[in-house]
Amino acid sequence: MKKWFTRSALAAACLAALCGCQTTTMGGATGSDRSQLMIVSSEEMDQASQQAYSQLLTKAKNANALNTNRSYTNRVVNISKRLINQVGVFRKDALRWKWEVNVLTSKTVNAFCMPGGKIAVYTGIIDSLKLTDGELAAVIGHEIAHALREHSREQASQQVATSIPTAILGSFIGSSELASGMNKVLFSLPFSRSMETEADTMGMELMARAGYNPEEAVNVWRKMSALSGGGNSVAILSTHPSNDSRIKDLQSHLPEVMPLYEATQHKKPATSRKRSRRA
Ligand SMILES: [Zn+2]
Repeated sequence: MKKWFTRSALAAACLAALCGCQTTTMGGATGSDRSQLMIVSSEEMDQASQQAYSQLLTKAKNANALNTNRSYTNRVVNISKRLINQVGVFRKDALRWKWEVNVLTSKTVNAFCMPGGKIAVYTGIIDSLKLTDGELAAVIGHEIAHALREHSREQASQQVATSIPTAILGSFIGSSELASGMNKVLFSLPFSRSMETEADTMGMELMARAGYNPEEAVNVWRKMSALSGGGNSVAILSTHPSNDSRIKDLQSHLPEVMPLYEATQHKKPATSRKRSRRA
């Protein structure tokens, strides 16, 4: 791991000076193409993500908590598929990612999409918030957006670039377990406000394009606020702040994404008309 750090730190020194800035995505209708400093490679992140994800699935399987309820799993997989079909609008290469979708039986109110497209949804978030399909699409779309924008890679790059000897990087240096270090980056380190806003707006665009009413994204955070206000421990809120300004941001993007959703609805009557003719 020391080798990884040294190589990345060296790259940081060179690339920060030259400004290794790029953008991971095309803007779509919501203009999510902010320039990002990327020093750590996608390959390094994807490899670590794959390892952490596999470990998580093994642990869940051993605890008999992996995809134990077929109806939940089918629902999450179907919604995820519809969203994944739309990722090409932001980045074409993501259509070829090795996407994986799993449901973990747990009261934990959480969901995530690790770098490279490794999705996990906890049954706790579906049950506690009584999520509709549209709301679940908003949650998964938001998490997919973090992966498309490679926010974890950006965070790791920022850590290296600023050379702050944080506990997170400390674990990279001191431990031979890259996956365990990555778990901290992937699970514990909160995304910045601008990353959250990007994930919100991109997630909303993905769900709209997939045929889910984007207004339902606003409901998710209302429900989340109500849940946390009731004194419940909400894991997702430790990394995803819930507040009024977030809801206002989502609402401000509705005019951009509603036409995308409406376009999908206009296509549907053609199918129902066919059905009614047959009937
Ligand atoms: Zn987020």
